[in-house]
Amino acid sequence: MRREKLISNIRNVPDFPIPGIQFKDVTTLFKDSECLQILSDIMYEMYKDKGITKVVGIESRGFIMGPILATRLNAGFIPIRKPGKLPAETIEETYDKEYGTDTVQIHKDALDANDIILLHDDLLATGGTMKAACDLVKRLHPKAIYVNFIIELKDLNGKDIFDPNIEIQSVLSL
Ligand code: IMP
Repeated sequence: MRREKLISNIRNVPDFPIPGIQFKDVTTLFKDSECLQILSDIMYEMYKDKGITKVVGIESRGFIMGPILATRLNAGFIPIRKPGKLPAETIEETYDKEYGTDTVQIHKDALDANDIILLHDDLLATGGTMKAACDLVKRLHPKAIYVNFIIELKDLNGKDIFDPNIEIQSVLSL
């Protein structure tokens, strides 16, 4: 029931950002107060007993639910950003995309060995972005890493490229 409500509020935009792509627009989820509350509740229920100390959100759609969830879990929030945006010392990972490469960065002092991390982004497609984020966070040696998405595009099998020991959960599998 709650998930049906969410699904009915996702806007499918054809040919964005390029012809042939059907883009799942989550801004229509966030603008609906009931959907925003449902999302926050479901994600909180998923992680409330995991001892999460930091939610790590991926630029830029991971910056919306990430901090909301962090406040509910009494955790901190850490941004993973595109190159050149973070002001202090960073580490980075570069990954292959369909055309070319992309890079993600995190502050070197963002987390430590006692942290239990929840990595969050809005959507899992091929998994390349989150896999790079995961590899980045692993280099800072937290105690544990969990991975979360609002939407997982199940036909793309993005989960397959991850270490099977990492628990990956999505609110919606479409
Ligand atoms: P991946 O690296 O192929 O898994 O792509 C996931 C990244 O692209 C995430 O950061 C998403 O925000 C973004 N993305 C790809 N497709 C969509 C979409 O249909 N809606 C919203 N974001 C998308």
